[in-house]
Amino acid sequence: MLLKMTGHSYRFECENLCRVFFPYSPVRVAEGTEPGPGEPWAEAAMEEGGAGWAYAVRASDGERELSRTFTAPERDEYHMTRLLFDALSELTGIRPAWGMLTGVHPVKLLRQHVERLGPGAGTEDFREKWLVSEARTELAGRVLRAQRQAVEELRPDDYSLYVGIPFCPTRCAYCSFISQDMAHAKKAVEPYLELLDLELERAAKIVGELGLRLISVYIGGGTPTTLSAEQLSKLCGRIRATFPMEHCREFTVEAGRPDTLTMEKLLALKGAGVGRISINPQTMSDRVLENIGRRHTAQDVVEGFGLAHRAGFTDINADLIVGLPGDSPEGFEETLEQVLGLSPTNITVHSLAIKRSAELVTDEGALSLHKRPEAAARMMDHAIVRLTKAGFEPYYLYRQTRMAGNLENTGWSRPGSACRYNIYTMDESGTVIACGAGGVTKLKDPYSQDLKRVFNFKYPFEYISRHREILERKDGIKEIYEQFRQRLY
Ligand code: SF4
Repeated sequence: MLLKMTGHSYRFECENLCRVFFPYSPVRVAEGTEPGPGEPWAEAAMEEGGAGWAYAVRASDGERELSRTFTAPERDEYHMTRLLFDALSELTGIRPAWGMLTGVHPVKLLRQHVERLGPGAGTEDFREKWLVSEARTELAGRVLRAQRQAVEELRPDDYSLYVGIPFCPTRCAYCSFISQDMAHAKKAVEPYLELLDLELERAAKIVGELGLRLISVYIGGGTPTTLSAEQLSKLCGRIRATFPMEHCREFTVEAGRPDTLTMEKLLALKGAGVGRISINPQTMSDRVLENIGRRHTAQDVVEGFGLAHRAGFTDINADLIVGLPGDSPEGFEETLEQVLGLSPTNITVHSLAIKRSAELVTDEGALSLHKRPEAAARMMDHAIVRLTKAGFEPYYLYRQTRMAGNLENTGWSRPGSACRYNIYTMDESGTVIACGAGGVTKLKDPYSQDLKRVFNFKYPFEYISRHREILERKDGIKEIYEQFRQRLY
């Protein structure tokens, strides 16, 4: 799709909106070019005139063309993007469930509306301003209410610790993370863990000097249970020995791939005080698992849950994905029933990101489900109804660009088993100190909406070779926190 802009620089939002309506046509932003034959295009222009600001959009789906104009006394990004949204929606007949929202954190935005105007008027303002559907407004409102206690209980000096283990036994075909498969990265594991220890020590020293309070630990990846029982035990032990744990309310490890689980590893985790784990089926169809290159079966998931229960784990999350190639709404319903039968306390329902599926499958038959966004929407709607009926509440929600059906990822939990780390990191309501490759430290100013990010290198090999820079960046945390505190006085 060709996007032309005149008189403004609202490229990011305009481009994202074009993607919502034409997800299979890469957006190129260019002036002085003409669209190719049959290529969709849009022109978004604004200029100052006698009556204020004139906004104009012309757009075409490659066949039909329409134009819209609007005038307002002020120059405003909202007016420009709203006009573009209206034009593209009329042109394509698509009414996106999340309306004009293309950002990652709709619940955070709803919270800001509610804080400004109160629950009723704030929610209505959110829905009307951003053209969010009734159903998605209600979902976001339920998430906001479910998070309230965890957010209200946060103290200014609280933080969560994230530790990244960027290794997996093999690489799934749809994966867009930085994880390395063991065939290529086996030799890097021990050096990585040694440097991770150093980073943990540095982080502990800094948070100690700042007087911060650890309330939650999350070891994610990748697949942390790719490590041996001994390595897992050592890593968890290092965290316990390095950070004061007396206020820590949860300790989670992503066991992810069921093919990595053994009783020895689970007992090592249990013995190290891990209370929550995640075992991720994605789907319970062996055929779909094969389509997405996940080298395990549905039976492995059943056995993984059995092992985890026997090891004493009662708090277990299961990740699922809607919109997988070769899946169907009926297949997804069957998956959900089977997973509910395994008694998880959390179920996280993701929408497949289109970029991944596009790399994943070239054959039209397998991709066809993904190209029917209504099928992914049916799966997601079913999950909302079925999980609600089963006693789960949605408690965190985030979006990515290019998601199947332009939907969302939602974490559901049984009462009392919401993972606080997920709330604080996804909703950006609390500080997260991240260690390991791919880790993004998010420093939330407890006295304002300000959030500062400190990035680690993404790949394990970079993490190892440029570790000194990682430690230097960690040192920057102290200065940022001190700036937060100075603003108070
Ligand atoms: S288990 Fe997860 S992180 Fe690992 S390769 Fe598969 S999708 Fe990627």
